[in-house]
Amino acid sequence: GQCRVVCPTGAIVIKRDVNPVWDVLEDSNTKVVAQIAPAVRVAIGEYFGLEEGANSLGHLASALRFLGFDEVYDTDFGADLTVIEEAAELVERLKAGDNLPLFTSCCPAWVKFCENVYPQYRDHISTCRSPQQMFGAVLKEEARMKKDEDSRKTVVVSIMPCTAKKEEIHRPEHFTDGEQDVDFVLTTAEIAEMIKAAGIDLTNLTPEALDMPFGMASGAGAIFGATGGVTEAVLRYLTGSTKAEDIEAIHFTGISGREGIKEATVNLDGRDVRIAVVNGLINASKLIDDLEAGNVNYDFVEVMTCKNGCVNGGGQPAPEKPETKFNRQNGLYRFDSRAQIKTSGQNPVAADAYEGILKGKEHKLLHNEKI
Ligand code: SF4
Repeated sequence: GQCRVVCPTGAIVIKRDVNPVWDVLEDSNTKVVAQIAPAVRVAIGEYFGLEEGANSLGHLASALRFLGFDEVYDTDFGADLTVIEEAAELVERLKAGDNLPLFTSCCPAWVKFCENVYPQYRDHISTCRSPQQMFGAVLKEEARMKKDEDSRKTVVVSIMPCTAKKEEIHRPEHFTDGEQDVDFVLTTAEIAEMIKAAGIDLTNLTPEALDMPFGMASGAGAIFGATGGVTEAVLRYLTGSTKAEDIEAIHFTGISGREGIKEATVNLDGRDVRIAVVNGLINASKLIDDLEAGNVNYDFVEVMTCKNGCVNGGGQPAPEKPETKFNRQNGLYRFDSRAQIKTSGQNPVAADAYEGILKGKEHKLLHNEKI
């Protein structure tokens, strides 16, 4: 059964999913598929004595296979799909002039906050599912298409830096044909606990590659875990250039960095697109108050609830020092700088998916159902 950790003040109840995941791993009638979010790889090593920001994706893939996961993927692939869909949505809204600014939808705590406090902006939030939800939908669709070859039940487990992601998977508008796409979310802390319980020392494992067909992602997908990363990834895709100097120029527009609200104006096809990047909900409130007062005007706004983005999420190891989050953030940018594919549009696996599994089902699998 599922157990829960209760906060001493009674204010927060954090759902724990370690036990049900052990159960499905032991069940020979299930195929258990993992996806690992960007921010997890640069933080989990801290539980095993690695330096902050070290990339542990290969070690983690290896550990997950020891635990019994049948396939291991990178949520960055889902992030590439999100970039492609959200960029298209931005272009459409710019053309129509409707519901601007477009707000990002990949942080579920922000989505809930907006619905509760600023319901008048609900339609401004992107219809895109988040990267974990897009990837979950693709994995379940693949299982449905291959059910004659493999009769096992596919169970999708997301490894996330975030406790709000545990609630996101239960939101019915993310379901496909009424079925939940992601079955369980484990935080970085929970998967570290499972690895330790199995007697595995992450640092002694030989790093392993991810599985195919979905184990390929761009560096743009990885930077989703840092504040400004979603915007940077969307701009890389929309400008269409893969030249190093152009990619660097986007990074230095002012959207990456440490401040709570950052602004930039970027020229896309002759039009100035006004962008804001926000981290922290207090800053989101400030920005919306300024929008209401007519003091500012934007076309695209990225909001992340956690200070500095998902690297600093509630499911991550408690930061040891103020610099910890920046070390993790730098780790994601190092990961990106070493990635062979820089923009989501260059990801050949995503392109194949659009020609195959997603064809004619893009809206059904990648967007919210009610919209
Ligand atoms: Fe979760 Fe924080 Fe990332 Fe939002 S910013 S998705 S709350 S970890």
